[in-house]
Amino acid sequence: MINYPNVQLFIDGEWCDAADGRTLEIINPATGQEIGRLAHAGKPDLDRALAAVERGFQVWSETPIFNRYKLMRKAADLLRARADDIAWMMTKEQGKLLAQAKSEILGGADTIDWFAEEGRRTYGQTIPARAPGVVQMTMKVPVGPVAAFTPWNFPINQIVRKLSAAVATGCSIIVKAPEETPASPAELIRCFVDAGIPQGVVNLVYGVPAEISEYLIPHPVIRKISFTGSTPVGKQLAGLAGLHMKRATMELGGHAPVLVFDDADIDKALKQMTVHKYRNAGQICVSPTRFLIQEGVADRFTEGFIEASKAMKVGSGLEDGVDMGPLANERRIPALEGMINDAVDASGTLRTGGKRIGNQGYFFEPTVLTDVPTSARIMNEEPFGPVAVINRFTDTDEALAEANRLPFGLAAYAYTSSSETAQTLGARVKSGMLTINHLGLALPEVPFGGIKDSGYGTEGGSEALEAYLETRFISQKK
Ligand code: NAD
Repeated sequence: MINYPNVQLFIDGEWCDAADGRTLEIINPATGQEIGRLAHAGKPDLDRALAAVERGFQVWSETPIFNRYKLMRKAADLLRARADDIAWMMTKEQGKLLAQAKSEILGGADTIDWFAEEGRRTYGQTIPARAPGVVQMTMKVPVGPVAAFTPWNFPINQIVRKLSAAVATGCSIIVKAPEETPASPAELIRCFVDAGIPQGVVNLVYGVPAEISEYLIPHPVIRKISFTGSTPVGKQLAGLAGLHMKRATMELGGHAPVLVFDDADIDKALKQMTVHKYRNAGQICVSPTRFLIQEGVADRFTEGFIEASKAMKVGSGLEDGVDMGPLANERRIPALEGMINDAVDASGTLRTGGKRIGNQGYFFEPTVLTDVPTSARIMNEEPFGPVAVINRFTDTDEALAEANRLPFGLAAYAYTSSSETAQTLGARVKSGMLTINHLGLALPEVPFGGIKDSGYGTEGGSEALEAYLETRFISQKK
């Protein structure tokens, strides 16, 4: 039996408390009770982390790639071996189902493995020269120390992509991990520490997010920023990064459309979408949100979705037989209630759910709204919770116009048996990712990222490594 730990910072190769001893409470969202304390970094801690990450970069960027690869593979194996205990901590602090926590951790180990392997293929080029005796080539070199800011919805998954890309390419990193869900990310870092990562290469801090980002982003030691979170915060941090000429990757909010055509396999669409909508209580940037269903199947899909929503068992993620855990934090409750009430005021119909369950913990009913006008807030703002909005369309042009209406462009989903329709969607849906007739997003080897207000850069696939590399051109004559 393990206990939920008090969580420390990890700076310059040591687990430590904050210099001034400050701590924050950690809350279990299934009970609303404190379960531990978290060290809260101040400026002196950040200064130590900055000095460490600079030294760590010198060491790590010169470490042969094959050694980096071997260390990462070891960290991945440690993460796999510890998955049960870490999953328990993650469910305690975040609320998600234990099985979902474990699959996130095992997926994290796969991500480390993939980036370790791909890091060995950071090839340069040779470029034919104009003049005799000249050799022109490019090399890929690590961009430098990284500052990464990650949210609470996937405490490990959001970090592991940034951390793995940084470590694989020879960068060092300061991770500002989520204060609400700190223990499982600390265990991820511990796997790298126990695998032998040199002092200063990986550092972990928690504190006041704005204070930390405002201090780290402009700091001359930091060369690259990676942020996952909401669009308004992302724009602010991207602005700061731009002002100080720092490379940046921004994985921001979404408002994913789901297009279901008359010719689709409706049973499959219902089965996949009801599970996916309520996964992690809907707190996923790629969560399906705007369901657009063609007239001929709209009644069947809508009734099926409502029935499945009503049948969901909501409860603690640690209990057997539960389909959906609590929201991760209390502020999501008024945020969701506000959007749902606004949708009803705007003439939408609340078909099931719509409110908090009980007054202990942050449980919320699986919720379905139908026939919501595009003027309602929920049709324009990311609900980030267990709420589905189901509307109808008549033809492909109408569906595409609605799918592409918002400034977001992260994920999109579609169900159709027509390869012609599928090709049209591939060409005309404006999003970073589109998955048709199955759930195919977020594997380590495929791109993961958005366009427009959903951010820039990708956190999966070989392009994810490019974000941590610079191209150095060398022209040499004998
Ligand atoms: P928020 O915007 O306050 O925070 C979102 C995340 O950004 C948190 O992890 C927070 O610690 C961090 N953050 C906030 N201000 C920051 C700053 N100045 N510098 C650095 N980091 C900062 O919102 P919230 O209440 O935590 O979450 C609600 C919204 O955030 C959701 O509606 C959703 O749009 C977005 N969100 C997105 C993701 C994602 O996976 N893209 C994850 C979590 C939250």
